[in-house]
Amino acid sequence: MIRDAAKKSSRFHSTDLERPLTQVMAVPSAVCHTPDMTHIITSPCIGTKDQACTEVCPVECIYDAGEMYLIHPDECIDCGACVPACPVSAIFPEEDVPAGEESFIARNYEFFGV
Ligand code: SF4
Ligand code: SF4
Repeated sequence: MIRDAAKKSSRFHSTDLERPLTQVMAVPSAVCHTPDMTHIITSPCIGTKDQACTEVCPVECIYDAGEMYLIHPDECIDCGACVPACPVSAIFPEEDVPAGEESFIARNYEFFGV
């Protein structure tokens, strides 16, 4: 029945029923993509790397990036749970990254190609 209704509509083709909704309809980007909200790990993590943050992150978006851990900007839900867990206060909401630590914002994004 749904297929018959779709066939009668000039806006849809029968093949649309086999495709994801986002490919068939124009869905606003705000609906499909998580808004830019993330936390940033800064320099004190280097040399510490105790993984305390990874143990409390509810979405497991903190990854080993070699000399430090980094947060995937598209996966972070900005909950803040990792902030008090860090023994060296290395984690900040992006908008609150301290002066002199701004380069770690780009480092977080670039590591994940975001
Ligand atoms: S803010 Fe929340 S979701 Fe983002 S890295 Fe920290 S614990 Fe994970
Ligand atoms: S808790 Fe802090 S020091 Fe430990 S891995 Fe996470 S950001 Fe680095």
